Amino acid sequence: MANILFIKSNKILIRRTYIQELLVKLGGRFYLMQHTSKLPDVKTTIFSIMSGLAKTHNAINLSQGFPDFESDKTLTDLVCKAMNSGYNQYAPMYGNLELRQAIAKKIELLYNTSYHPDNEITVTAGATQAIFTVINTFIREGDEVIIFKPAYDSYEPAVKLNGGTPIAIQLEAPFFGVDWDLVRQKISSRTKMIIVNTPHNPLGTVFSKADMLQLQDLTKNTDIIVLSDEVYEHMIYDGEQHQSACLFPDLKKRSFVVASFCKTFHNTGWRIGYCCAPKELMDLFMQVHQFNVFCVHHPTQKGIADYMQEPKHYLELSAFYQQKRDLFLNLIKDSRFKFKPSKGTYFQVLDYSAITDEYDVDFAKRLTVESGIASIPLSVFNTNNIDHKVLRFCFAKKDDTLKRAADILNTI
Ligand code: GLN
Repeated sequence: MANILFIKSNKILIRRTYIQELLVKLGGRFYLMQHTSKLPDVKTTIFSIMSGLAKTHNAINLSQGFPDFESDKTLTDLVCKAMNSGYNQYAPMYGNLELRQAIAKKIELLYNTSYHPDNEITVTAGATQAIFTVINTFIREGDEVIIFKPAYDSYEPAVKLNGGTPIAIQLEAPFFGVDWDLVRQKISSRTKMIIVNTPHNPLGTVFSKADMLQLQDLTKNTDIIVLSDEVYEHMIYDGEQHQSACLFPDLKKRSFVVASFCKTFHNTGWRIGYCCAPKELMDLFMQVHQFNVFCVHHPTQKGIADYMQEPKHYLELSAFYQQKRDLFLNLIKDSRFKFKPSKGTYFQVLDYSAITDEYDVDFAKRLTVESGIASIPLSVFNTNNIDHKVLRFCFAKKDDTLKRAADILNTI
């Protein structure tokens, strides 16, 4: 007879040997279920915490990055049409072919380079799945992965879950630029991957062409994979050009470029993105992807493929969000928050050092509870929780929401 005993309380766990012995004496075979976390240091993601707090306290939610307006009805109609016209069984593993062709066409148009729709482009369940699968495909026990901090919070756990060691390089206030000499020093024979993110979440900074050339130079003649998170590629301001890894031939050879439709088309709940890489790298990715999700929601892929036939649907996004950034910053220009306008993404970081000395997590929570406005504290993305006294605000909101938010920030 085999019995399983579920023990949850810590108090009981202390006495588990005693209980086990006793139960064995009583004549059974017992397995005490005691599981340990694979990520003991990881807490609930800050996005859930702050959005939850905003909801509880009915605060304006500028924390988690998502729009508070609906996406274009033309797009939702196209997805419904796809659903009503038979796109309801599995898509091919790489994704709906028309969508992969539309992606290839977009990349040709914007970056004048090509990925073959047959085997160099894969549609994924949001960019996060692409990122996770790339890491899962290449990172083994003992491999080192260079991550610039602050970093989006999914990178490091994904590296650790695969036995890798994150090597953090902290970007320092006020400019948060990359010290490429330091990167050179941190590269070792164990470096398997470098993760870059431009435009940068949470900072709203962008890599220059010079940054990308440095990255290309540092990784030349190595087997380092570059994971380039470019989910905010269509939100770039003040005439800057997005410096995609695919623009640099030697970098492109070793890179996975990860992109998102959820961000671009205002549907973060649809969980749909993609990644591109040269065939030899994508072949390895597909070995994992096929057993991870196999493929993603088919009618959404077909709807997006049709919608992308009109390039203005993604080309006009920068102007759309720049107007929101400018509105928001203009409204709070006389507040006690200090800022440099975001160069990309739909996030703006605000320095509150002139207001209080409080730890950023405490201040973000207090603002939510007492003032009714939620943001994301930056320290949770930093090395050792370094507190630069900076909060991140999402401006992907209706103009009215931004006005109400600014009214509050001006009183702080
Ligand atoms: N990418 C979004 C942000 O940065 C959040 C994603 C999530 O909630 N996991 O706010």
